[in-house]
Amino acid sequence: MSTLLILLKPDATDADRGQVLAALAALGVQVEEIALPGRLALAVVGGSALPGESLARIPGVARVVPLGETKAPLVHATWREGGRCIDVGGARFGGGHVGVIAGPCTVESRDDLVATAQCVAAAGAVALRGGVFKVRTSPHSYQGGGLEALDLLADAAQTVGLPYFTELNDPRQVAAIGDRLVGVQIGARHMQNFPLLTEVAALGKPVLLKRHMAADVDEWLLAAEYLLAAGNDQVILCERGVNSPGRHVRYLLDLGVIPYLKRRIGLPIVVDPSHAAGHHELVPDLARAALAAGADGLIIEVHPRPEATRCDALQALPPAVFQQLMLDLRALVTLAGRSFGASVRPARGETASGQGQPLRARAVPNRSVGA
Ligand code: PEP
Ligand code: MN
Repeated sequence: MSTLLILLKPDATDADRGQVLAALAALGVQVEEIALPGRLALAVVGGSALPGESLARIPGVARVVPLGETKAPLVHATWREGGRCIDVGGARFGGGHVGVIAGPCTVESRDDLVATAQCVAAAGAVALRGGVFKVRTSPHSYQGGGLEALDLLADAAQTVGLPYFTELNDPRQVAAIGDRLVGVQIGARHMQNFPLLTEVAALGKPVLLKRHMAADVDEWLLAAEYLLAAGNDQVILCERGVNSPGRHVRYLLDLGVIPYLKRRIGLPIVVDPSHAAGHHELVPDLARAALAAGADGLIIEVHPRPEATRCDALQALPPAVFQQLMLDLRALVTLAGRSFGASVRPARGETASGQGQPLRARAVPNRSVGA
C-alpha cells in the first residue's frame, strides 16, 4: 500500500478540486481531505502504483509528494521549495533564515544568567535558552529552579530584548505557565509524551521538538504529527544526537538527517551541538558542520562560569568562545546566501564587529577552543 499527498494550489478553484477528486475516484483509492493553512491537501492511500506524475499535471495541483509508508501526512504537507520560516517572537528559523538560540543549560543565579544573556545577544543570538524544569536521568540530580527560575529567565530575556525558549515536561505546567512562554522546548526524553505534545500544541506557541536519542526519523516526524494534528504547525525540529556506539562523544550527531528531511518536509530543523558533543571543545566544529549541512539554526549552551553550574558543565561554551564561533557562523551562512539571525549588537563602549562591514570567512576555522 502506498500513500501520496496531493497539495492543491492556494488559489485552486472548486472545479479544480472536483477534477482531482474525479481522477482519484476513477482509481478507486481512499482519499482524506486535509485543511492546511490557506490551502487544501488530499492524502491518498491506494495500491502499489499510484500515478503521481499524471496527478501532478491536473490543473490546481501544486505538488504531489510520495509518502511511501509514512504515517505523517500533515508533516509532509509542510514541504515547500526553500522551506518554511517560523517566527518565534521575532527570531526567525527556516526559509533562508538561520538563527542561534543560546544560553545556559539551566537557570541558576541571576548574575550568571544576565551575563550570559548579554553576551549571547551582543554576539547576534536571536533567542535565549534556559531550563527551569530539568529532565535528569537521576532523581538525585538538580531538577531545575522552577517558577523562580522562570521569572529570572523572563527578566533576563526582556533586559536584552530577546525571546526565550524553555522546556516543559508535564502537561500540568502548560496550564500553569504556558501563557507566559514564548517558545516551548520539548526535550528529547519527552518526544513521545503524547499528552504533553497535545497540551503544548493547544497553546498555539512555537514548539522546538527535540529528537529522542533512540528515535528513528519516522518516530520523530510522528511526534511532530501530534502537534500538527492538534492544530499547531509552528514546529521546529531539533536534532541533538542519537545513541552513539562509542564514548568519544555524548551522542552521535545525525547530520545526514538535515538534507534528508529538507527534501521531504518544510519544517525548519535546528541542531543542538552541545548535547551531541558533551564537551565544549567539540561544540564549535559540530556547530559549523551543522550549518554547512543546511540546518536552519542552532541551540548552544553558554555559561560564564561553567565550573559553577550544576547541569551540563562540561559542554558549556565560555562567552569568548561563543562570540568567536558566532563570527565564523555568520561568515559561513552569509557565504551560503542565507541570512544570519540578528545584527551584532555593540556592547557598551564597543563598536559592532559584524555590522555594516562584511566579515571575512577564514580559510582555517578557529581550532583554539579550550586552549
Ligand atoms: C537541554 O536542552 O538542556 C536538554 C536536556 O536537552 P535534551 O532534551 O536534548 O537532552
Ligand atoms: Mn543541557
